[in-house]
Amino acid sequence: MTAQLIDGKRIAAEIRAEVAERTRGLAERGVRPGLGVVLVGEDPASQVYVRMKTRACEEAGIQARDIKRSADIGRAELLGIVDELNADPAIHGILVQLPLPRHLDEREVTERIDPAKDVDGFHPVNQGRMSQGDATAFRPATPAGVQELIRRTGVETSGAHVVIVGRSNIVGMPMSQIMLQKEPGANATVTVAHSRTADLGAVTRQGEILIVAVGVPGIVRGDMVREGAVVIDVGVNRVEDPTTERGYRLVGDVAFDEAAERASWITPVPGGVGPMTIAMLLRNTVRSAERTASLAAAGTVAASG
Ligand code: NDP
Repeated sequence: MTAQLIDGKRIAAEIRAEVAERTRGLAERGVRPGLGVVLVGEDPASQVYVRMKTRACEEAGIQARDIKRSADIGRAELLGIVDELNADPAIHGILVQLPLPRHLDEREVTERIDPAKDVDGFHPVNQGRMSQGDATAFRPATPAGVQELIRRTGVETSGAHVVIVGRSNIVGMPMSQIMLQKEPGANATVTVAHSRTADLGAVTRQGEILIVAVGVPGIVRGDMVREGAVVIDVGVNRVEDPTTERGYRLVGDVAFDEAAERASWITPVPGGVGPMTIAMLLRNTVRSAERTASLAAAGTVAASG
């Protein structure tokens, strides 16, 4: 292997420590950031994610309020829970764990969240503002985490050709918008590939920075990677592995060993992008609480002045 590893665990720990520092600052002003976490149903992966998010919150000084409901919850009840969290001054961020059971409309629920508390960054108001260059808009945690990984690795993005494979609303699409922004860690020339792209390899080989978010194990082979590229693998896929206790292991979308022969930097799976997603969610939540605290302070000054 010639590539150096981008250690997502270490960088995520750095960000979590920064968040903890900021929550201590807020505590001095009498504010404790609060995150409402809504979990519907019994999906095992969602349960694991929610547990990880809740634990990370507590460690960083953020109060997580878990709200669990059975899969047969009605539309009105779920929207009512979101409304209550929207109105609750102790809650600065709201997260509704996706996917929701089929009878519920994810878009409707996402759009019900107050954009000022939308720390997942999925609300169209935040996505639209972000695309228009508004730095105050909440950004989705996974693509924001990818940008932070690249930035903290010291890789220059300005003028670089970034190729993104995948155009989903939670990863690929916002990733492309982020890398286009006029800001440090962006200013890139961006190409987005997807399932209709003809000759995927010809496109990925152009990427000085290659970000892959597809959900197909090993879809990017070594010969699809440009020599010296920075490779970010967002994919998380279970593949059978009878040699492990669980019977499976996690792999990314990039054939790691092959790609590492050509890349200059590469993220592992697990331990690359995954840990960043939670760290960025925490960061969005503390940012929301800081914003609320500043607004409250400004309101007090205005009222007394
Ligand atoms: P989606 O299924 O929503 O999107 C996949 C994208 O890949 C689509 O745009 C699709 O194209 C494209 N695609 C599918 N097949 C091909 C192909 N053969 N060639 C080129 N492009 C293709 O997935 P997500 O974006 O939600 O997730 C992608 C991966 O990232 C998954 O493995 C997921 O588990 C992982 N993930 C990891 C996170 C983390 O924290 N590390 C967080 C979120 C996701 P089209 O639009 O044309 O259908």
